[in-house]
Amino acid sequence: QRIAVVGLGKAGLPAALRLRDWGAEVVAWDDKAAARAPAEAAGLTVHDPSPGQSPGPSREAWRFDALVLSPGIPHHRPRAHPAAAAALAAGAPVLSEIEMLYRAVRASGSRARFVGITGTNGKSTTTALIHHVLLAAGKRSEVGGNLGPAALSLEMLPDDGIYTLEMSSYGLERLHSVRFNQAVMLNLTPDHLERHGDMAGYAAAKRQVFARQQPEDLAVVGIDDAPSRAMLAALRTAPARLLAVSGAAAAQAGEQAAIWAEGGVLRDAAGPILDLATARALPGAHNAQNAAAAAAVALDLGVPRDVLAEALRTYPGLPHRLERVGESDGVLFVNDSKATNADSTERALLSFERVVLIAGGVPKAGGIAPLAPLFGRIAQAFLIGECAEEFAGVLTAHGVPNAVAGTLEAAVPAAAAAARAGAAPVVLLSPACASWDQFTGFDARGDRFRELVRAQSATRRPGI
Ligand code: ADP
Repeated sequence: QRIAVVGLGKAGLPAALRLRDWGAEVVAWDDKAAARAPAEAAGLTVHDPSPGQSPGPSREAWRFDALVLSPGIPHHRPRAHPAAAAALAAGAPVLSEIEMLYRAVRASGSRARFVGITGTNGKSTTTALIHHVLLAAGKRSEVGGNLGPAALSLEMLPDDGIYTLEMSSYGLERLHSVRFNQAVMLNLTPDHLERHGDMAGYAAAKRQVFARQQPEDLAVVGIDDAPSRAMLAALRTAPARLLAVSGAAAAQAGEQAAIWAEGGVLRDAAGPILDLATARALPGAHNAQNAAAAAAVALDLGVPRDVLAEALRTYPGLPHRLERVGESDGVLFVNDSKATNADSTERALLSFERVVLIAGGVPKAGGIAPLAPLFGRIAQAFLIGECAEEFAGVLTAHGVPNAVAGTLEAAVPAAAAAARAGAAPVVLLSPACASWDQFTGFDARGDRFRELVRAQSATRRPGI
């Protein structure tokens, strides 16, 4: 087959190489020289679609069997990438790497299982948690999707293997034939609405995780928010076995969870599974929801209860999600850089009594205002990035002491000093914002925070 690959980043390059190994004729584009170089070194022919550069084969030759688009490259008009637009105009279907992985695994005759995890928040945590539990149970799991390595760099697994895949709504929209044997939809709150238009469109994209499921498959749905409960109700007519989970009480607004967490204890109808207080990397009610969903999938895949409980306890956590990055002079430093919206920062604030908060960046609609009920937990705030002044105004109006620090470099020492002076025992970076104004991504922001915490802890002289 002739396949166009547009974008040769973290996902595109392994996809292009795998496809070539499978015998496809690959025509690739990337407008960044740094991305073209490793592909060219690996023997691929790569074109530069920028105006005036080498556009590749002539238009008449653009007859592709499929188009592979890296995540984030728009394929909808009018913002479509020129090479993508041309391939689409030629009628090539857009394939995501997960779609290709699925087709390749099935074409190899393997009946390896596919587990898909989606939701607004908690996808990465739940995906990593399921993977950790499956490995602890001696199962062969490969983790990928949004989290971890590119899907097409994963191993080909035999019948008893399991692909544990984090699925964004964008990723789900690009699946054609993937059938998830176990699918999870954790929660649905407004985020990314700018792309999906409205809540109904966003919910429809998330619901795709259950598309093509058969009666023997499992559909796990969180019931801790109203849009998710509506999805659960709508799935009652779908063929898959339906299982509701809750991070709180079993009963939620008329729905009943089969796995839930009451009084901090994860349970199902058979009894308690685990006191979640013993799971150090899973603090807060939001993580109870993640644990309940992970338990649903693990139990369905035959993981024994005691193995499940022990694995939840030993789960090490992911970087940038309420990650403890240092402790000095009685002050705990927590990196929650992954909190790119107010909803995530709300979970972080609920996890600590009182904090010195570092927040700001590129705000989402509504900014920091939705956190007002929790402002009492913020002893002091240091604000960074594009929206620093705006957030400062909101906090000041609510009587929360704050200062515009501008950068993380200025905010960390100032927040550390405030905490050491007794304002609060925790310095929390939970920005409630995207990072693009000052960083290449939330991980770069969190890595920088970790460095700054180490640097300022190291330079403090004992006794001061
Ligand atoms: P995602 O991959 O969906 O972005 P993560 O597991 O990376 O989710 O967590 C992102 C942020 O959301 C973290 O800051 C965390 O505190 C918060 N969070 C995690 N799980 C949940 C949940 N089940 N509900 C709400 N917020 C959550």
